[in-house]
Amino acid sequence: MTEHTTFPQATIEGYPRVGPQRELKKALESYWAGRIDAQTFESAAHSLRVDTYARLKELGLGADYAIPADVAYYDQVLETALTVGALGGDAAEVSLDEEFALARGNADRAPLEMTKWFDTNYHYIVPEIADGQSFTARPGRIVKLVEEAQEAGHTVRPYLVGPVTLLALSKPAEGANRQPLERLPEVTAAYVEVLAALADAGVDWIQLAEPALVADLTVASDAELAEHAQRAYSEILGAENRPQVYLTTPYGSLQKGLDTLADLAPEALQVDLSTRTQKHDAGYVDRVAAAVGEKTQLVAGLIDGRNVWAADLRRLAETLEKLPAGTAVSTSVSLQHVPHTVEAESKLPHDVANWFSFADEKIREVVALTVGPDKAEDVFGRADRAVRTRGASERTHNQQVQDRVAALPDGQVKREPAFAERHRAQEALGLPQLPTTTIGSFPQTTEIRTARAKHRKGQLDDAAYTDALKKEIADVIGLQERLGLDVLVHGEAERNDMVQYFAELLEGFVTTENGWVQSYGSRCTRPPIVVGDVSRPAAMTTEWSTYAQSLSDKYVKGMLTGPVTILAWSFPRDDVSRSVSADQIALALADEVRDLEEAGIKIIQIDEPALRELLPLREAERASYLDWAIRAFRLVALKAQPETQIHTHLCYSEFGQVIDAVAALDADVTSIEAARSRMELLVDLDDSFTSDIGPGVYDIHSPRVPGVEEVADLIRAALQHVPAERLWVNPDCGLKTRGYKEVEPALRNLVQARDEVVGEL
Ligand code: GLN
Ligand code: ZN
Repeated sequence: MTEHTTFPQATIEGYPRVGPQRELKKALESYWAGRIDAQTFESAAHSLRVDTYARLKELGLGADYAIPADVAYYDQVLETALTVGALGGDAAEVSLDEEFALARGNADRAPLEMTKWFDTNYHYIVPEIADGQSFTARPGRIVKLVEEAQEAGHTVRPYLVGPVTLLALSKPAEGANRQPLERLPEVTAAYVEVLAALADAGVDWIQLAEPALVADLTVASDAELAEHAQRAYSEILGAENRPQVYLTTPYGSLQKGLDTLADLAPEALQVDLSTRTQKHDAGYVDRVAAAVGEKTQLVAGLIDGRNVWAADLRRLAETLEKLPAGTAVSTSVSLQHVPHTVEAESKLPHDVANWFSFADEKIREVVALTVGPDKAEDVFGRADRAVRTRGASERTHNQQVQDRVAALPDGQVKREPAFAERHRAQEALGLPQLPTTTIGSFPQTTEIRTARAKHRKGQLDDAAYTDALKKEIADVIGLQERLGLDVLVHGEAERNDMVQYFAELLEGFVTTENGWVQSYGSRCTRPPIVVGDVSRPAAMTTEWSTYAQSLSDKYVKGMLTGPVTILAWSFPRDDVSRSVSADQIALALADEVRDLEEAGIKIIQIDEPALRELLPLREAERASYLDWAIRAFRLVALKAQPETQIHTHLCYSEFGQVIDAVAALDADVTSIEAARSRMELLVDLDDSFTSDIGPGVYDIHSPRVPGVEEVADLIRAALQHVPAERLWVNPDCGLKTRGYKEVEPALRNLVQARDEVVGEL
C-alpha cells in the first residue's frame, strides 16, 4: 500500500440498484426479450450507474470512496462468485448471457437456486461449489467499473461480498462431498488476487461485506464463522499489494466476531448500530466502543437502512457520542431494501409523508449526523417534527382494534377439532388421488395490466374494469378445466400484488406510487407501509371468489395472504412490535374467512411464503418469533368449519429449519416450494407432517417447461417420503410472472405426469 486516503466521514452500505425509474429492470427485461442488444444493455446500465454517482454526490457523499459501487446486474452474491471464479467455469471472462443463464436458466441448464438474503425480502442466487472447482480471480469487470466512475469524475469504492459470507451462503453442487466453507483458503487466495488487481488500478479502498458474522447459521455456528473470518482476513490483510479494507457487518450485532475482527484490525470496520439492533442487543454500543482499537476507523451504521421511518436523530447523536471521536457514520444495512425517495410520492397524506425517510432522505440523515445539528438544522428539524407529530397522530391509534386484540386469549390458540377429524369431514369434498392444483395466480396478461393502469388513471370506469377482470377469471377457469386440474383458482387477476392488494383494502396501511424495491433480478415490489392499527372496513375477496366458483362444478379456492406475509412484505411500524400488528391483521383476515365460508367457498388458502424470512438471525430470538407467527396464522383459521379445507403455501426459502413451525400452522394442506432444490426439503419432512402436503414439482421461477418425465420423477421422489393419500401435485408457486406459452404446456405435463404416477400406485 502506497497512498492512504482517509476513510470518508459519511457513507452508506449500499444503494438501490434498479434505478429511480426502474431503469435497470427495464434494460434487463428488454435484453432478455431480445428487444435490445448487449451493447445497448451495457450502455443503459452504465448511464444508470453514472447518474447514481452524481446523485449520491449531490446528497452529500462527495468525499473520495464515500460511494459504494455495486457491480451487480442481477445479484451481488452471483456477481461476487463470478469475480472470484467460484462459478462460470474456467473462462477468464463470463459473458452476460452466461451470467443470466446461471441466474435464470436457459434451454440447456436449470437456474441456480435462489433464496432469501438474511432476514430480508431480497433473494440472492445460491452458488453451487463442485469438488473439482478451482477459483480463478476475474477482476476485469470490477476494475472496469472503477475506471468508468473515474472517467465520470467519481472515486468510488468497489463492493464485494466477503469470502466467509460468500461460502456460508453457497451450497455443495450435486454430488459434491466438500462443504463450501472447507474451500475458504482457495477462495481467499482468489480475493487476494482481485484486491491486487484493484490496487494496481489505483484503488485505495475496497468494501467487503460479511453479514454472515451476525447470524447463527445451520452450516456454521457464530464461533465457527468467527474462526473462518480470522483465517480469511489474516491472509487478506497480510497481503502486500492491496487497497485498504473496509469490512462491514450489516443486519445485526456481532458476538464472537466482534473481538476477532477488532483484533484483525482492518483499516475500517462498519457495525450495525441501528435502534433496531440496539433493541435486540442492548450492550452492543458499549461492546463496540470497548473492542475496536485505534488502528481501525470505526464506522457506525446508525441510520436504519431497512425501515422507512425518519430517524430519531437526537437519539442517534447520543449514541454517536458514546463512540470514539472521529467515528464515521453509515447505514446499518444497504439501502437496497428501501425505495429511492419520498420526493417521488405525490399522493401520500401530507402528515404521513413527513414521517418517512427512504434511501435519499436517509443519506441526508447520515450526513447530518456527521456535521451535527447546528450545520444541519433543516434535517434535524424534520426529524424532530416527525417524532413529535407521529406520536400524537390519530392515524396510529384505533381503540376498537386495540380492544378487540386485548380480548383475545394470551398465548397459543388451536383450531378445533384436530386435523384427523377435520380430514374425515373433508372427505366429503371427494377429491381424486394425488389431486392437482395451482398456487393461485395465473399469468398477468398485457390486457389485464393495461386495464389496471387505465383504471388507476381514471380512463376506465369501475364497471368496465370489473368486466375485464371477470372475463379474465372466466378464461382462467376455462383453461384449468380444459387442462384437467382438480382444484381450481380464480387466477388473482384483480391483484396487483398479493400484499398490496390487501393493504389497499385494510385501514392502517398506506401504499406508495413509486416505492419500488428489488425482490430478485429484475423483479421489484412496492411494499405497503403499516402506519397504525389495522382493521377491515369491508369484505375484500368474496366477490371475485364467488364469481369464479359460479363458473365451475369443481372447487375454486378462496385466496388470502396470511398475516405474517402481509407484515413481512410491508414496512412495519417501529412504535409497536410486529406481533401486535400480526394479531390485528389476523383478526381482519379471520373475518374474511367467515365471509368466504358464508359465500359457499369450501377450500381457502392462506399464503405464508414469508414465514421463514422473518426468522431471527440469532438462535435465541427464534422461539418467540415462531410463537407469535404461528399464533397469527392460527387466529385466521381458528373459527373455520371442520369441513372447510384450509390450505397454506410457502416458498422462496429453505424450510428445513422451520419445518416444525410449518407443521404447527395446522393447515389441512400445505404446498411448498421444492422443485429447484430437487425435493431436498422432503428429507426433513418425515414425521413432522401429519397433514396433506404438495411439494412443488414445477419450478416457476424459470421460463423452462418441465417435461412429463421430469415432473413424474419428482412426484415419485415425493412418494418416497409422503404417503399417496396425503400427497398433492402442484407448481412451486403462483404463475403470475410467467407467460401462457410456458404455463399451458407445463401444467398439461403436470397433469399427465400425475396420471402416469397414479397408474403406478
Ligand atoms: N397465491 C399467490 C400466487 O399464486 C402466492 C404467491 C407466493 O407464494 N409468493 O401468486
Ligand atoms: Zn409461492
